[in-house]
Amino acid sequence: MPLPPILESEIGHVPERDDRGDWRWQLRNAIRDLEGLERAFVLTAEERDGARRALAGGFPLSITPYYASLADPRDPSCPIRLQCVPRAAESRQVPGDRVDPLGEVAHEVAPRLVRRYPDRVLLLVTDRCSVYCRFCTRSRMVGRGGGTASVDVLEPALGWIAAHPEIRDVIVSGGDPGLLSDARITELLERLRRIEHVDTVRFATRVPVTLPQRVTPGFAEALRVHPSVWVMTHFNHPKELTDEARAAIGRLVDAGLPVMNQTVLLRGVNDDADVIEALCRGLVRARARPYYLLQADPVRGSAHLRTPLHRGIALITALQGRLSGIAMPRFVVDAPGGHGKVTVGPDWKAGERPGVTTIRTPRGTLVDYVDPPRD
Ligand code: SF4
Repeated sequence: MPLPPILESEIGHVPERDDRGDWRWQLRNAIRDLEGLERAFVLTAEERDGARRALAGGFPLSITPYYASLADPRDPSCPIRLQCVPRAAESRQVPGDRVDPLGEVAHEVAPRLVRRYPDRVLLLVTDRCSVYCRFCTRSRMVGRGGGTASVDVLEPALGWIAAHPEIRDVIVSGGDPGLLSDARITELLERLRRIEHVDTVRFATRVPVTLPQRVTPGFAEALRVHPSVWVMTHFNHPKELTDEARAAIGRLVDAGLPVMNQTVLLRGVNDDADVIEALCRGLVRARARPYYLLQADPVRGSAHLRTPLHRGIALITALQGRLSGIAMPRFVVDAPGGHGKVTVGPDWKAGERPGVTTIRTPRGTLVDYVDPPRD
């Protein structure tokens, strides 16, 4: 299948030969139509209908052959399939749904630059992804045709960052900036490196999950152009931690890049303490730090994949004491409307009297913590 021209111009020459180990081959051969889906999966009527709606102007469809190969072709409840195959339920609207759940449009301070916190900004450098995740918070804009922004297009955003010394942290996201060529990543990070007050760049990419072939030594080298790049990735299920994915994480870590993982809590995918435990243990073994377990944002068309908030609280409570500190993610709700992240946890405080707080331990024991005496 021909690659969309806008993508071909961004990623350069695509090998003609059958080379599943080449990330550009994976992109050229991504499933983008109903025929491709029918070849890969035994579709249900609900999925077929969902695909038709997606292709008729809904949230776009793309699945790399690699990611499709992780899914069960016969089981529609497969956790990989739930994340990437459209469903008719995507056209359902429910109370609380929002097109832009985090209020990013309202918080735009320059084209493609969003500021929701005093010290950090979000830079949206592309609208392309190798797989369009059906729960995506930015389904309003990803895959809609904008393509990758050149550094020229990002100039107003970069100028805004340079003019605001209070900005210490830039989150490079999209779409998936992992689809940028090594040269573009280098150019962008070089520009950010020259802004002295930017301490840290967080590079948010799902390629270690959906396209681990992209994590080449050259990719890791490009990311090292800035002295403090943290790779933020997005594994949601232990099935995604394949040999290829773990090797991709290893290449990043071996290059000196810290890898942090954000998992979205998804109904039928990972809303189970055993699944999250296995995922977090696998991530730590692969040297990626479980960072957030995120309550799914109420983005329009994703209600069938969301869980009630109490489910996440019960799950994170069950994991207390089962996972060590380095394997335990924080359970976080991004307050709808762009009001920021709130950490939600078990009800640890069982009582309080002057100088003494009673805490509930993971095993349910009540223990007093006595404060130091006042001077
Ligand atoms: S890779 Fe990220 S931006 Fe792209 S569809 Fe998935 S969640 Fe959305």
